Amino acid sequence: MDEFREQIEYLERSANLSTSIQDVQTVIDQLTAMRAAIAAAPHSAPLTLAKNQVPIKDGLDRAQKNLLPIYKGLGKYSKSLDKKFKDKPLPSAENDALSSHPSLINRAIAMHLLREGQFDVASTFISEATKHPVQPEPTAGTPNPYLHESWEQDLANGTFDSQNLQQQFGEMYHILHELRTMRNLRPAIEWARNRSDVLEARGSNLEWELCQLQFICLFIGRDLHGVPIEGDESNGPLRAWAYARSEFGPFQNRYAKEVQQLMGAMAYAPNVLESPYRRYFYNDAAWEEVASSFTREFCSLLGLSADSPLYIAATAGAIALPTLLKLQNIMKEKRTEWTTQDELPVEIPLPPSYHFHSIFVCPVSKEQSTDANPPMMMPCGHVIAQESLDRISKGTRFKCPYCPGESQPKDARKVVL
Ligand SMILES: [Zn+2]
Repeated sequence: MDEFREQIEYLERSANLSTSIQDVQTVIDQLTAMRAAIAAAPHSAPLTLAKNQVPIKDGLDRAQKNLLPIYKGLGKYSKSLDKKFKDKPLPSAENDALSSHPSLINRAIAMHLLREGQFDVASTFISEATKHPVQPEPTAGTPNPYLHESWEQDLANGTFDSQNLQQQFGEMYHILHELRTMRNLRPAIEWARNRSDVLEARGSNLEWELCQLQFICLFIGRDLHGVPIEGDESNGPLRAWAYARSEFGPFQNRYAKEVQQLMGAMAYAPNVLESPYRRYFYNDAAWEEVASSFTREFCSLLGLSADSPLYIAATAGAIALPTLLKLQNIMKEKRTEWTTQDELPVEIPLPPSYHFHSIFVCPVSKEQSTDANPPMMMPCGHVIAQESLDRISKGTRFKCPYCPGESQPKDARKVVL
């Protein structure tokens, strides 16, 4: 990899296009001047043309000459790419699950661009993908997309509302920018306050985390917009105290212990640095923590995961690729086939953040859940598989096998893991 870095650095340093752009600009300037001269004095046009012939030819030659190192650098770079990857063929298309679902793939790409805040690229991509729809090429052994989710239907009907999503993500990036760069908590607090019912129902601590950080900011000498107040350090604790009195009321019950701790820190106001509360007040990571907790809540209120699924899938795929290539070679040698659908014949070790606990085993039937037999949660909170529920309830009011709770089959909700 070092070799690539060297090559890229070399290209950036010496073989950039700025000299060539300058060369071409000089020629354009000469030509423009020549046009003006001829327009002003048409009778001397042949003379003007003759006079400029040599300088313009020289200019073009210079442009050619200055492009040489760029060609050379690119050539070297592609040679080192070839050298590095010569023995690594791409996997064959035998197990291609992608070409049967081009619209889903396009949607994943569009969503990724939108949630990364690349709105221009996303809208160009969406308009091009809509103009030139790719025909699906069904491959054997690939399941069909199930049009259950509303977005899948929207996509199939061409009513996927990217404008609305773009607006939403625009708001998210604005708030994140204020948080991370400006250290201004106000927009995030406002956003959380307007949704405090939904957030509390989700068990989210976001609003409290934001207000707690606001308290700390005031305490260490920033104003409500995150701007440091010069030469006014001693008033920080007083401002924080006033803030706590006006804002902490709604948190008293749920965060009694945390509120107490912050109040306790007031006693150490002159030297918080030496106190047991130091970690609250001098913790730069706190900003990144609230930013990622905000992103998570924002995305989940939109019904999306906090990380881009495309990014996760591509990274997991890149980790799995060497193992899959090896597997393909072994299967070719032994002339065996990979028959189990939707399941890999080998274990792929992925980092812990890529484990999604997506397996549910029904405690009644001891069977693993599937798309056709999903986990269902009864109003009492216990979860069993759909088939077990059908068997136990027989379509009428029934008792939960694990508690005295009784319910109707229609009250059970599908659990998505
Ligand atoms: Zn129960």
